[in-house]
Amino acid sequence: MNVVFCSSEVFPFAKTGGLGDVCGSLPVALEKIGIQVTIVMPGYGCVSQAGIPVKSVSEKVSRAQIGNNIQVYFIEHGPYFDRKGLYVDDKGDYPDNLERFSYYCQQVLPLLKTIDVRPDIIHCHDWQTALIPVYVKERYAQDPFYAQTKTIMTIHNIAFQGVFQKDQYPQLGLESPFAEQSLEFYDRMNLLKAGVIYGDRVTTVSPRYAKEIQTKPLGCGLDHVLNDRYDGVIGILNGLDHDIWNPRTDRFIAAQYSADDFIDAKLKNKSQLQKELHFDVREEVPLCGFVGRLSHQKGIDLIIDALEALVSMDVQIVFLGKGERHYQEKLEQAADLYPGRIAVCSDFNEPLGHQIYAGSDLFLMPSQFEPCGLSQMISLAYGTIPVVFKTGGLADTVKQFSSVRKEGNGFVFKDYSSASFLKAMKKAIKVFKNEKDLHNIRGNAFQCDFSWEKSARIYQEIYHTIEKQ
Ligand code: ADP
Repeated sequence: MNVVFCSSEVFPFAKTGGLGDVCGSLPVALEKIGIQVTIVMPGYGCVSQAGIPVKSVSEKVSRAQIGNNIQVYFIEHGPYFDRKGLYVDDKGDYPDNLERFSYYCQQVLPLLKTIDVRPDIIHCHDWQTALIPVYVKERYAQDPFYAQTKTIMTIHNIAFQGVFQKDQYPQLGLESPFAEQSLEFYDRMNLLKAGVIYGDRVTTVSPRYAKEIQTKPLGCGLDHVLNDRYDGVIGILNGLDHDIWNPRTDRFIAAQYSADDFIDAKLKNKSQLQKELHFDVREEVPLCGFVGRLSHQKGIDLIIDALEALVSMDVQIVFLGKGERHYQEKLEQAADLYPGRIAVCSDFNEPLGHQIYAGSDLFLMPSQFEPCGLSQMISLAYGTIPVVFKTGGLADTVKQFSSVRKEGNGFVFKDYSSASFLKAMKKAIKVFKNEKDLHNIRGNAFQCDFSWEKSARIYQEIYHTIEKQ
């Protein structure tokens, strides 16, 4: 079976969050179970910094290889893709994002013909690729090359839909008129909506989020479009790439460790992190980490509101995050106010991310909504205990710890408020201070199995089902 992955992010070539991780590691997991995968993504300037050789194929296309034999094709167009950011700069979204990503989508199908990759499945990820199912069904409907091709639209975050002014519709080069049953969305143009309608199957990245996005509060206006699909939305939990996220082999951390032997190494990672952040090197103080986009979604407001109370509870907190400037400023002010207690790194820093996952005791992830979330899974793999809000993939992967039953791998609060977050933090700190409980909860964390294999097999089943439709 021939599967083509289309994504605007593929680690290690380009990543701003979980989408990059998933589209870098799921193809490798699929290849391991016998599926042939080809990837097509935009040829950003940063692609050449991944440490993987990139060869030119033509003026418009270059190529690299990952996994055993996965070819990654880059659609080149300097004016669109050779920029500092993938989607935004300091001023906000690039104003020509529609032009950029519709260009990319329009190049994919001709490229596959040129390189003679006849896809059984084109697996599209998020709004940047959502026009591809439309082109397959409209522009290439009569083309024998794509006669057997089916498309899947995977939603990694329904809050990002690619919404643009409707007068830009002619740019898409579609013959059919702008219409309510395709791209029209409250008098604007919505690319993800089109992907949901034209895709042969719609999936998302956790079972709970699949249900949530079909409801008004979390569907971001697309709930009725999803509800209109006779086959619904399938939720498949993302996995972790253990070649990258593995405390046994992690080259970024001070001391490597395993589930069987971690106590000394975890302390070493903690003290190293404390030194680097200019915190007092103290074993008994809970070190709390945050790694993620600085946006409302990630629950940053709850954390900021709780900072004063947290600091008074004798904790240290490190934030690694890029995102909205006002959050960055608030966190930097807090770091100035509480030196030695709060540290902030407003950058995208892969090595520091690994050091925080390994060196922290608790991981803060009170996201207001979370399609799947990789950070909590990574923290669990590193024996760092997550504190989360009960939503989406967080609810599917983190279970409340009970010291009586010795069950659970983290702390989960159900009412989205700073007070409830603080309550959960108090419970977490209490467990951290109890040697037996800490040992039990860490053991439970290490036992979680988030490997890709299980999910890759579910995708394989879906590919087979729609192939036969
Ligand atoms: P999302 O995709 O919503 O941003 P996820 O939890 O699914 O969130 O994935 C986030 C991924 O991005 C993780 O691999 C996390 O470690 C990484 N990440 C996020 N922000 C940063 C940052 N500032 N520096 C390094 N890694 C980051």
